[in-house]
Parts: sequence; C-alpha cells; structure tokens
Amino acid sequence: MESKTKKIHDLVVIGAGPAGLCASIYASRYKVDHIVIGEEIGGQVVEASEIENWPGEKLITGKNLMDKFVEQTKDLGGKIIQSSVEKVEKTNDGFTIYAGGNKYNSRTVIFALGMKPRKMNVPGEDKFMGKGISYCATCDATFFKGKKVAVVGGGDAAAMAAVHLSDFADKIYILRRKEITWNPARQEELEKNPKIELVLSESIKEVKGGERVSGVICECDGKEEEMDIEGLFIEIGSVPGVTIVKELGVEVDEQNYIKVNQNQETNIGGVWAAGDATTGSNKFRQIITAAAEGAVAAGSVYKKLKL
Ligand code: NDP
Repeated sequence: MESKTKKIHDLVVIGAGPAGLCASIYASRYKVDHIVIGEEIGGQVVEASEIENWPGEKLITGKNLMDKFVEQTKDLGGKIIQSSVEKVEKTNDGFTIYAGGNKYNSRTVIFALGMKPRKMNVPGEDKFMGKGISYCATCDATFFKGKKVAVVGGGDAAAMAAVHLSDFADKIYILRRKEITWNPARQEELEKNPKIELVLSESIKEVKGGERVSGVICECDGKEEEMDIEGLFIEIGSVPGVTIVKELGVEVDEQNYIKVNQNQETNIGGVWAAGDATTGSNKFRQIITAAAEGAVAAGSVYKKLKL
C-alpha cells in the first residue's frame, strides 16, 4: 500500500479521459511528480465509433484515439492506475485519495472526472439495465443482431448509436423530441438508412418486460402506445459525476458542473478541475476542450508548486 511509504506526490490526477491524460502529459513535461487514477482508461470517448474533429486524425475510432493518448502519457513518464476513487480528504500536507483499498497522498489534485450518462428516471429503467437497456451502443450493439430496438435521444450520440446499431439490428426506432440537436449533416444519413425510423416522442413513460425488455410505453407521434422492442439504448446526454468533489467542499453550479476560474482552479486551494464536468470552455464539451483544460490545469499546478 503506497501510504506506508508516506510518499507525497506533487499531483494526483483523478480521471483518465482526455482531460486527465493531457494533464499528465503536461505535468510530465513540467517534471511535476504525479500519478493518474482513473476507472475507465480513455473515458467516455472510447465508446465513440468515429471521431473526425480531432486535428491530425481525419477519421479515427474513440478507442484508437485514446490508445494513442495513453501511449503518449506513459511514454512521457505518466503512471496510470486503473481504479475508482472512493473519497478525497483534506490533510495538513494536502490531500489523501482513497482508491481501490489504497491511499495516495498528494499536495494537489486535478479532478478530471468527466460525465456519466443521463438517466430517464422512468419505471423499468433500473430493473432492465443490462437486460435490454444500454447506455453504450458501441459496447452492446452486437448483442442485438436481427432484433428490433429503439434509441432515445435527439443529439449526435443518439444519431451515431442508431447508425452503428443498423450494422446489427433489423429495425431501429429513434425516439426523439421535437427539437433535435444532432449535426444537420446526419439527418440525410438517418433518413436514407432503410432500417432506421424517426419517431417523434415527447416522453417515455415506462420500460416493460419480464426477464428482459419487451417494450416501451411512450407518447409517440402524439398518442400513448406500447412499442414492441427487445433493446433500448438511452442516449440523452450526460451529467457531471461529482459526488466525491462535492464531499470535499468544491463549489458546483446549479447543474452540478464544477466551478473553475481561467486557471481551472476551484474554490478549494490545491484543487483544480478539468474537462466536461467543469464550467470551463463555455461548457462546450468536446475532446479538444477537455484536453486543453487538462493542459491549463497542469500548467497552473506547476506554477503554484514551483514558482
Ligand atoms: P445532447 O445534449 O446533444 O442531446 C441530448 C438529446 O437527448 C437532446 O435531443 C434532448 O432533448 C434529449 N433528451 C434529454 N433528456 C431526455 C429525456 N428524458 N427523454 C428523451 N430525450 C431526452 O447529448 P449527446 O450525448 O448527443 O451529445 C453531447 C455532446 O457530445 C454534444 O456536444 C455532441 O455534439 C457531442 N458529440 C459529438 C459526437 C461527434 O461525432 N462529434 C458524437 C457524440 C456526441 P431536449 O433538448 O428536448 O432535452
């Protein structure tokens, strides 16, 4: 257990998505002694089937892009520990981070926690999680070969999930609200796909089934109906995962985003935050902005520690 050596790192980065890994890359270049602790190496990006807005890569899968981030992080000396962080405590010297039964001590912390999928909060959603309900088409589409499924949502994630699912499922309904937010360029691709049908659905009432999902009750095309499906993919955006941050007294806004200044500093001395879960970058939640926030945070930590 690392704490027995009483080692105190200069920095612990919590989260191993684009923000956390870029914070590590910059910390390594500044020779700031640090480790990265993250539950999902690569973060949510690994689920993206295609990315074409990361400069230098015309088209790449999320997994391949994040593998490159990880390789570069490690090559520069960053140590990545795969574990979920249970708690962060303030101490006299800085902070103690509790993760996977170990304790890590650090003078400073960068929270780069990313987001978690937004839930619909309707009856049946928890019950059928993993039994027909999924928040990740890239991970689970293959289990729905030849089946009839629905995707809830009207953003880029929902559109991409439906297109990906069409390689496996026989029929995909997109249950979308009136206002859609996916890139207009996707509309034609969706309309041309013979397996995909767009359905106006202002609300989902309940997910039905026995052992597994068998249908969904929705307000679809203006009337309440039960739609027979065997899979339901929920792609309705994300919310910040900030429980451990709030426990430390870090301020969040009314939507639970971590409040940061232009240096990515929070209201607690020694605590920075970067990436999708912050109020930074005008809340424009992209890989490039998360990466940039990680770099700014690491640069700011360096200035605080060394100057
Ligand atoms: P978005 O926030 O863009 O879209 C969420 C969608 O879900 C909206 O249409 C919203 O409708 C709908 N919604 C929200 N709550 C419910 C509910 N309870 N029931 C039904 N529908 C609901 O989230 P995304 O995850 O799609 O995208 C997040 C960000 O990531 C965006 O900036 C997007 O551009 C980006 N992204 C980019 C990709 C790329 O390839 N470049 C791929 C995937 C995402 P309403 O507005 O009415 O609430």
